[in-house]
Amino acid sequence: MVCADERQWLPPGGQRWTTLAELAAAGHAADVRTVEPGLTGIGADPPVAIGQRSLLVTTPAGNVLWDPSGFIDDDAVAAVRAAGGLRFVTASHPHFYGAITSWADAFGAEILVPADDAAWLRAGDQRVRTWSGVLEVLPAVTLIQCGGHFPGSAVLHWAAGADGRGVLLSGDTIFVTPGEDRVTFVWSAPNRLPLSEAAVTGVWEAVRPYRFDRVYGGWWTPVLRAGAWETVQRSAIRYIEHLRGTAS
Ligand SMILES: [Zn+2]
Repeated sequence: MVCADERQWLPPGGQRWTTLAELAAAGHAADVRTVEPGLTGIGADPPVAIGQRSLLVTTPAGNVLWDPSGFIDDDAVAAVRAAGGLRFVTASHPHFYGAITSWADAFGAEILVPADDAAWLRAGDQRVRTWSGVLEVLPAVTLIQCGGHFPGSAVLHWAAGADGRGVLLSGDTIFVTPGEDRVTFVWSAPNRLPLSEAAVTGVWEAVRPYRFDRVYGGWWTPVLRAGAWETVQRSAIRYIEHLRGTAS
């Protein structure tokens, strides 16, 4: 059960479809923002559960929703429809699987999950496709399995983002830190447990071949706004120096 996992800190049941009516009654509403051209953020105001917001990548070939928000209402659905609907729903890792089925059901979308983490989906989820390694979801929109936080932890590379300089949507896989000038890598964020050198190297090696200038984590902010490839590289090197005890 995901809530019993050492990496989790959600209140049990906090992201379930059955609580959505109660959340709406309590005054939560969809919070829809244009993040940059072609990228729409959809969260809740006030925030729900751990407060992550979804990111909708829109392309001429169709749209993909990344890290689905735990809150979905008519306004959220209308915003996605206005942006062209939804072909795929996927997530950086199982902590954001909570409402994935609700989002997929609303649009008849396909759910993409890494084979290594598919067991975290609730039984009965339909239209699920598993993948491993790298999956080009739409032209120039690519899921990259990085591991680390979870074996299937992933990022979504969007080549057209940042005015064509490339964007990573990283969730908790690559964790943007508050100063927006570095990133970190964690096994458990709430419990501040680190990753091994091999795991951090694995995350970096997975994204290194891709061109990206910007990284959006799991929340509205912080964001690594420019120079992100170099920043991720520098952060990984620094992290490993600390693990080895060679940081000065
Ligand atoms: Zn997480």
